[in-house]
Amino acid sequence: MMGNSLVALFLYGYIHIPSKPIQFHTTAFYNEKEKKIEFLISESVRGEGAYLVDEKGNRFVDELAPRDVVARAIFKKYKEGHKVFLDFKPIMKKNIDIKARFPFIYKKIKNFNLDPEKDLIPVSPVAHYTMGGIFTNSFGQTKIKNLFACGEVACTGVHGANRLASNSLLECLVFSNRTTYKIDFLFEREFKNLKFDTFVKNITLDDRLNNFKIENIKDISKILWKYVGIERNGEDLEKVYFTLENIENKENNIYKKRLAKLGKLIAKAALERRESRGAHYRIDYPKPKKEYEKHTLVKSNEQITYIEKNLKDDLLKIKT
Ligand SMILES: Cc1cc2nc3c(=O)[nH]c(=O)nc-3n(C[C@H](O)[C@H](O)[C@H](O)COP(=O)(O)OP(=O)(O)OC[C@H]3O[C@@H](n4cnc5c(N)ncnc54)[C@H](O)[C@@H]3O)c2cc1C
Repeated sequence: MMGNSLVALFLYGYIHIPSKPIQFHTTAFYNEKEKKIEFLISESVRGEGAYLVDEKGNRFVDELAPRDVVARAIFKKYKEGHKVFLDFKPIMKKNIDIKARFPFIYKKIKNFNLDPEKDLIPVSPVAHYTMGGIFTNSFGQTKIKNLFACGEVACTGVHGANRLASNSLLECLVFSNRTTYKIDFLFEREFKNLKFDTFVKNITLDDRLNNFKIENIKDISKILWKYVGIERNGEDLEKVYFTLENIENKENNIYKKRLAKLGKLIAKAALERRESRGAHYRIDYPKPKKEYEKHTLVKSNEQITYIEKNLKDDLLKIKT
C-alpha cells in the first residue's frame, strides 16, 4: 500500500484521515535462508488443527485466539530469541489429507523444499490490512461531494479495531455494489448530459509511480515494522514521529514523501491513543479504556480528535 490517496486528500485539506490500527496476519511463510516473508498460510490451517510451536515443538498460545493475540504471542517468541513454526501433523492425525485440503499452500511450501507432512514450517506475523482510511458512509460517499471511496482505502467502520478474517469480501461485494449503485443514481440525476469522456480522459497512472521501486521505501517500512507494528510504546512512537518528519522534509520523491507523512500520522495517532485495543497494542498502556471507544481522526492541522461513527449517522450528515 502506497497511501497515495489518503495523503493526497489529507494534504489538500479536504478530508480527515482516521488513523486506525494496521492488522497483522499471524502466519506468513518465513524463508529462513533469505530471511524474508514469502506468502500467507491461511488461518484455516489452524482451524483444521495445526499447532503453533517453538523450535522445541512446544505450543505457546491458543491457536484459535483472535489475530492480535496470536500475532503478539509469536512476536514475543521471536523477541525472546526463539523460532516459530506451524506443525501440520495434528491435522493428519484427524485423518485429513493436507495435500487435498490445502493444495495451494502444500505446493507453495514444497517449492521451498519443505514437507508439511514431515517438517515444521517456519512462520512470522506480517502487516496485512489497514482498518482506517477515508471515512465513507455505506454508499461509499465521502465528505467531498461526488468523491467516492470503497475497498481497503475506505473506512466504513465495520471492521472496528480488529477485522475478522476474509471480511474484505464486504468491501468487494457489498460496499462496491452500493457505491456503484449510488454513482449510477447520481449520474442519472446530475451528469446525464455530460459526455463520459470528460471524466476519463485525464485518468492515467503517473509514470513516477510506475517507476517507483519498493527498495526506495525500505527504510520507512523497517521503521514502521519495528516501532509502529505489533507492539508499540510511547517513547519509540515519539522518536518515530520526528524521524519520519525529517524524511518527509528532506525527501524529493513525492511518493516517498507522502509515505513518510502517512507513517508519521499513524505514529502520532498511535502515540496519543494511550490504551490497547484490537490490533493497536501499547506496552505502556496494555488495557482498553472507555474514553477511547471511538475512532481516531487526524485533522489536516495534524490535531487528533476522537469521534463516534456509524454508517447511518453519516448518511444523514453527508449531503449529496
Ligand atoms: C497477502 C494478502 C492476503 C489476503 N488475504 C485475504 C483473504 O483471504 N480474505 C480477505 O477478505 N482479505 C484478504 N486480504 C486483504 C484484501 O486482499 C485487500 O483488502 C483487498 O484486496 C483490497 O482491495 P482494493 O481493491 O481495495 O485495493 P487494492 O487491491 O490495493 O487495489 C488498489 C489499486 O490501486 C492502484 N493504485 C495505487 N495508487 C495509484 C495511483 N496513484 N494511480 C492509479 N492507481 C493506483 C494499485 O496499483 C492497485 O491496483 C489479503 C491481503 C493480502 C496482502
